[in-house]
Amino acid sequence: MLEQTESIALQQPRQATQSDHAPSYYAASANPSPARETLKEDITTDVCIIGAGYTGLSSALHLLEAGFNVVVLEAAKVGWGASGRNGGQIVNSYSRDIDVIEKTVGKDKVALFGEMAFEGGKIIRERVEKYNIQCDLKDGGIFAALNDKQIKELEHQKALWERYGNDQLELLSASDIRGMVDTESYVGGLLDKSGGHIHPLNLALGEAAAVESLGGKIYEHSAAVSIQRGEPAVVQTAEGSVTAAFLIVAGNAYLGGLMPELQAKSMPCGTQVVTTEPLSEDLAASLLPQDYCVEDCNYLLDYFRLSGDKRLIYGGGVVYGARDPENIEAIIRPKMLKTFPQLANVKIDYCWTGNFLMTLSRLPQVGRIGSNIYYSQGCSGHGVTYTHLAGRLMSEVLRGQAERFDAFASLPHLPFPGGHMFSVPFSALGAWYYTVRDKLGI
Ligand SMILES: Cc1cc2nc3c(=O)[nH]c(=O)nc-3n(C[C@H](O)[C@H](O)[C@H](O)COP(=O)(O)OP(=O)(O)OC[C@H]3O[C@@H](n4cnc5c(N)ncnc54)[C@H](O)[C@@H]3O)c2cc1C
Repeated sequence: MLEQTESIALQQPRQATQSDHAPSYYAASANPSPARETLKEDITTDVCIIGAGYTGLSSALHLLEAGFNVVVLEAAKVGWGASGRNGGQIVNSYSRDIDVIEKTVGKDKVALFGEMAFEGGKIIRERVEKYNIQCDLKDGGIFAALNDKQIKELEHQKALWERYGNDQLELLSASDIRGMVDTESYVGGLLDKSGGHIHPLNLALGEAAAVESLGGKIYEHSAAVSIQRGEPAVVQTAEGSVTAAFLIVAGNAYLGGLMPELQAKSMPCGTQVVTTEPLSEDLAASLLPQDYCVEDCNYLLDYFRLSGDKRLIYGGGVVYGARDPENIEAIIRPKMLKTFPQLANVKIDYCWTGNFLMTLSRLPQVGRIGSNIYYSQGCSGHGVTYTHLAGRLMSEVLRGQAERFDAFASLPHLPFPGGHMFSVPFSALGAWYYTVRDKLGI
């Protein structure tokens, strides 16, 4: 999710070399998960996947279910990247909505995107049920409007989503939303009962266990350091290699320069999350009585929800170029208190940052390189549902059904203006422009 510009940074993204998960509430409340071995030999498989976030794990699971042999290489640990650190909000559609895609692909082709816009959330729920994943799944998400212009946008969004089959939507008046979120910040909203929230790391860990239950192999601390392109492709790690008929690249914001052709058209960005101490039953029930998750409608947005043990998880803050801010609480706490001044005496127990990958169009960057290397990345901060859809699209395209994958692959992507040196300040300038518009409600 995109949020407030914290500062401009020109640093390179941090490499995925850490051995532990980020010091998040999620890591502290993770379900038990086995330590996985490092790849130390040369092996052969049908499909090698780089990255054990949702994109990699969802691809692995769909491919295993379709009968492929699959090896996943993870530089750090399962769910170490955005998938184990995010706001946990199941938000339907894409980072730019179907009407924006229509302007790019035209009326004839947009229907396919509309049909897929609500599939990712369904895949998550199917996974949770089929593999009995304990991840505090709750239904219902609110888009909260801060001004009348945003109400109009939500009315438009409701009509748009209904056109593509989402009948779970309800517009909220100022008094309706006041009964769902105990703040005076909002003038209305849109409830999507097919949205919802999860403990994101436990979802990833549960999906990894499902992958292994089907015979898939996941190696941790096994970064892909080079790729020999060809048929088959050969992926080298520090101590071993994987020879594979197909390669799926799912390293997203932490991929660095492994695939140079992808790097110029995407930019890692950091966003920050805090978690309070557990709230009293009464306070939790007054803040979010129905336990819905909430994101506001600003370009640079705030997002929050309750955890399974009734803490408030509150996110925001974007650092273009993905430098880690030193004092996350100082960035996020004022936003949280602006929404919920009643939390002034509540302690923050956890603060962390994570990187998502932004594209200039804010639509996913999807495609193939040569005949057997596939990639999907760049959900621009809105990827919990899309990444699950991406896994299904990977499985379809490897089975020769390319139509839906190719729809995403057809979305054009431009390099960031200014190249490596100036993409960060240009993007921050753009975000500043949209922030001013949001503040003025224009
Ligand atoms: C703080 C935060 C909050 C967010 N909140 C939300 C939200 O509430 N709702 C929403 O829809 N979206 C949210 N997002 C976005 C969402 O989390 C991402 O779109 C999604 O998780 C991306 O999944 P992924 O698998 O593509 O990437 P990741 O989860 O980042 O996984 C990539 C993995 O690849 C590994 N890797 C990288 N390079 C290599 C290599 N060379 N070799 C081996 N492994 C490698 C990394 O270690 C990492 O584990 C948020 C993102 C962040 C950072």
